[in-house]
Amino acid sequence: MYFNANFARMENNRRVRLRFAPSPTGPLHIGGVRTALYNYLFAKHHGGDFLLRIEDTDQTRFVPGAEEYIIESLKWVGIKIDEGVSVGGKYEPYRQSERKELGIYKKYADQLIESGHAYYAFDTAEELDEIRKRLSNDKPFQYNSITRQNLKNSLTLPEDEVKKRLDNNEPYVIRLKVPRNEEIRLHDIIRGWVVVHSSQVDDKVLLKSDGMPTYHLAHIIDDYLMEITHAVRGEEWLPSAPAHLLIYRYLGWENVMPQYAHLPLLLKPDGNGKLSKRDGDKLGFPVFPLEWKDPATGETSSGYREMGYFPEAVINIIALLGWNPGHNTEMMSMDELIAQFSFEKVSKSGAKFDPDKAKWFNQQYLRHKDDTELAKEFLIDLNRRGHHPEAEYVTHVCRLIKEKAHFIKEFWDLGSFFFVAPDKYDADVIKKRWNEDAKKAIAKAKDDFKNLNDWKASEIEKQFKLSCENPGSVMQVLRVCLSGFGGGPVLWEMAELLGREEVVKRLEAALNIIK
Ligand code: GLU
Repeated sequence: MYFNANFARMENNRRVRLRFAPSPTGPLHIGGVRTALYNYLFAKHHGGDFLLRIEDTDQTRFVPGAEEYIIESLKWVGIKIDEGVSVGGKYEPYRQSERKELGIYKKYADQLIESGHAYYAFDTAEELDEIRKRLSNDKPFQYNSITRQNLKNSLTLPEDEVKKRLDNNEPYVIRLKVPRNEEIRLHDIIRGWVVVHSSQVDDKVLLKSDGMPTYHLAHIIDDYLMEITHAVRGEEWLPSAPAHLLIYRYLGWENVMPQYAHLPLLLKPDGNGKLSKRDGDKLGFPVFPLEWKDPATGETSSGYREMGYFPEAVINIIALLGWNPGHNTEMMSMDELIAQFSFEKVSKSGAKFDPDKAKWFNQQYLRHKDDTELAKEFLIDLNRRGHHPEAEYVTHVCRLIKEKAHFIKEFWDLGSFFFVAPDKYDADVIKKRWNEDAKKAIAKAKDDFKNLNDWKASEIEKQFKLSCENPGSVMQVLRVCLSGFGGGPVLWEMAELLGREEVVKRLEAALNIIK
């Protein structure tokens, strides 16, 4: 078993180190949060390090604020960065644009040229576009071991001309020289062995004409220098992985190259295609951890945090998108996820995002929250609405209403009557049940409540049942008189919490108002 043997070697000899390496091209999608999470869970499971590296070599796609957004998102969901941008560390800097300034990448690109595994290419973008246009769509152009023979590069041009062009500072890129006829075998922890013929692999650009390395070169050098043991990233990188393996090989680092794990895609709720921002907008759920305002368009996209999700719930939801712990307990804390996580149980196929399930998770977490914690949040909302009740009273309200809520922001609609007496009464219930008998029963109960010794849910219930001839048919009327609504928390507990005085007052009011 290649995986286990290799894995043991990694564990015995090297500290487990994983990195999350986003490009700051916009807000982090929840798929990106999942990549960060799986990196983090694996690193922590093995007592290792979790790094944050910012891959900003593509200056044309740089979006201001994206890096800060990434850092804040990780912090909000509880992923702690051991090393990297925002915290520093032994391998500084952790931002690729700064590493480029130090000449870190050029040196290795030159080394590949010297060893004959890379070459200079002078073809202009226009020339390559011209070729692309000439070719039919079903056979798109690739700069590869065949086509390079007819293109303008240091493999085809005479040596002195290459030298002249370089001396004249003519623009060039450095490309990987992929062998023509070789089988490339690559191991992925999730997918097993992947075998690709080198004729399928293009001669990737390693260094661009502006001197910036491409992702292909930069991530390898950084993973090597930062002693990364596992590179866990999205499935979209799998097709490039054979070229990456060749780069490791040609730099002489194959024996310490990280183990790859390519994560399955996050799919739309119906399973048809990749989950996008548009699906979120259409179906009303966020695809970003935090709200994001696009600096260019001013457009705002909703975030899980602002929608009222708990970070623990978000982590739990995301952890299970593609990973199956092998048991039926769905609610898992970060510590439990760390203890149980393994790549063997990550699926190869895409994971469908289910917005209802996401809400369900939040509801479960809400139910498990301490009532005093919930009350603190609810009080903020109440104060904003001009109500300033005692914290203890609000805590009891939370206890009674939380069962029905998915989010704290729903508390007001579920329990506003605990703070304001109703001025409207459920029309259906009134139409069906508000008759002379009911009025008589409510009036009698009201008087009996005034004299009840112990104002306790069980006593209130007992008294009500004694006061009415037919308590079953007036119970809902009592509820509507107290809250305005036909449904809600346990009636007797609701009455106990409202207090005797308030209950009597509301029954009197109802008898006057309801016709
Ligand atoms: N910068 C790459 C991206 O954002 C990272 C891929 C990787 O983790 O190696 O997709």
